[in-house]
Amino acid sequence: MPSRYVIGLDMGGTNIRCAAVSTAGEVMLLRRAPSRAGASAPEVAANIAAQIRALEDTAHGRGLGAPRAIGVAVPGPLDVLRGVVMAAPHVKAWRGFPLRARLEAHLGRAVVVENDATAWALGEFWRGAAQGHRDVVLLTLGTGVGGGLIVGGRIVHGRSGMAAELGHITVEPDGMPCDCGSRGCVEAYASSSGMRALLVRRLGAQRRIPAAYLDAEGNFSVRAMTRQARAHDRLALETFATAGRYLGIAIASLLNVFNPELVVIGGGVAGALPYMRAAMNAEVRARAFVAIARQARIVRAALGPIGGVVGAAFAATHPPRSQRGRQV
Ligand SMILES: [Zn+2]
Repeated sequence: MPSRYVIGLDMGGTNIRCAAVSTAGEVMLLRRAPSRAGASAPEVAANIAAQIRALEDTAHGRGLGAPRAIGVAVPGPLDVLRGVVMAAPHVKAWRGFPLRARLEAHLGRAVVVENDATAWALGEFWRGAAQGHRDVVLLTLGTGVGGGLIVGGRIVHGRSGMAAELGHITVEPDGMPCDCGSRGCVEAYASSSGMRALLVRRLGAQRRIPAAYLDAEGNFSVRAMTRQARAHDRLALETFATAGRYLGIAIASLLNVFNPELVVIGGGVAGALPYMRAAMNAEVRARAFVAIARQARIVRAALGPIGGVVGAAFAATHPPRSQRGRQV
């Protein structure tokens, strides 16, 4: 009997989501576990393999048999062809780490690795907001800003799978420092860490972030700032407008370069989009060619937090050409 499912795993900074995804893209089983990102490089990889084995055991118990393929989505620039993580923002120990070889040694079978933002884009393309579209720009706004590009119905990987780092488009040459080492990247404004920095700058070094902008643990929270914006808090509205302005500058360039039919915006910060939209649209109108902007809709992502596992499963069954049929 042919296998009825594919394993898709999404490795986040805090949690791993691991799912059995049907060949039609439905999540059949979903496990969550701590990602233990602070452990040593081999331990983090061993933990991923253990989560996959645990899901396989559950699937076996439900009579699902063995998975057809395994796809693993991880953060950071990644050489998709060699399966090597160049640098991962949440896993400091992964620098030039041969993740795919490690996972294959643990599991004894082929694994496809993919960048997490690319996997998320593939999920939205397969089962979400970009379904049925051929030219799409996808931006995921979270702790950072990730991206995916679909051109002519195909994901753009570039030479080694590191393309579409859309969060690192420069929108302000002498702007705020970015985690990538550059300055003025759109990520430095339109991510949660960027918004926090905007807020701190606005408050000045002497004033602490007001409690209304913090979560229960006392950390800055875009969700809390969104609640403040809903209550017409001026500081929150201005911060979102600044973030929206820079997001709009990046989107205008993406429209001019790719002439997409759709721009999909997802991630944990996308809930604040209503408060960024006016400033974002003003920049798009000012900077993108009118005919190009008219052909593109800017929409919210549809899959929410399962986008990554669905996309990792899609990547597992649609690996880059050079990886097809690879034996371990
Ligand atoms: Zn950057």
